[in-house]
Amino acid sequence: MFADTHNHTCHFSPDAEMTIDELISSAADRKIGIVGITEHYEYDNPDPADIIGTFDLEEYGKAFEEWKKKAGDIILLKGIEFGYQTHTAEIIDKISSENSFDQVILSNHLFRGLDVYFSKECYLVDRITRHKEYIGKMAEMADKCRNYDIIGHYDYVNRFNPVKEETVFYEDCKKEFDDLFEVMISKEKALEINTRSIESQIRRFSPYIMPDKAVLKRYLDMGGKLISLGSDSHSSETLGIHFRKTCEYLKMNGVNEVVYFKDRKPLLLTI
Ligand SMILES: [Zn+2]
Ligand SMILES: [Zn+2]
Repeated sequence: MFADTHNHTCHFSPDAEMTIDELISSAADRKIGIVGITEHYEYDNPDPADIIGTFDLEEYGKAFEEWKKKAGDIILLKGIEFGYQTHTAEIIDKISSENSFDQVILSNHLFRGLDVYFSKECYLVDRITRHKEYIGKMAEMADKCRNYDIIGHYDYVNRFNPVKEETVFYEDCKKEFDDLFEVMISKEKALEINTRSIESQIRRFSPYIMPDKAVLKRYLDMGGKLISLGSDSHSSETLGIHFRKTCEYLKMNGVNEVVYFKDRKPLLLTI
């Protein structure tokens, strides 16, 4: 059985096209027994081109109760994906503590204040500088926020990169990765392996399809034990995408369990 901890529906994430019914039937077809729904919450989104913002948390709570009734044997986890900016750390913690989530993902979608999806200019910045800044910001995010469970897609900054020979290498920004891992490990937060990133690499025929082994090795060597798997699906065709391949890859690299969160508590699943 798989746990896909990162997914969006069209009901609360404006960039998603999947309905809850499509999500449930896709999970049943693909034998994904545990599905995290992590709707986008970008407080004070600075990018005028971006349609993603916040949503009514009370409405989400009510809808989720109905969704659980439809899900049958599939376990739905009520989650949220916060987009971080330095000045939103407190509000993120406040919302997390005032709402009953199963799991909270903390993500950084921005590079120099703009979402990399819209702002391709970030790829004009050389790779090392780009990765040092981006992972450095994630280390700050992991440190400044307290009330979260998972650090989402550390490699998001590479998702729309036109240069197929690049991925986020540990070698690019060792100090920034070490700072990120140190704080995550001390706070017992999980590192997400995002299989949508893998799909992006496949689509652009990158020679670096899987996440950099050195990133994984460093996280484990520093004492990291919590790895989550998320497809970051916005449509039903990608639920659990590349999970089998990714589990094999993780096992080859010394990881035998993945984590998901229920009532904000980590639960391990053997892979
Ligand atoms: Zn995201
Ligand atoms: Zn997402």
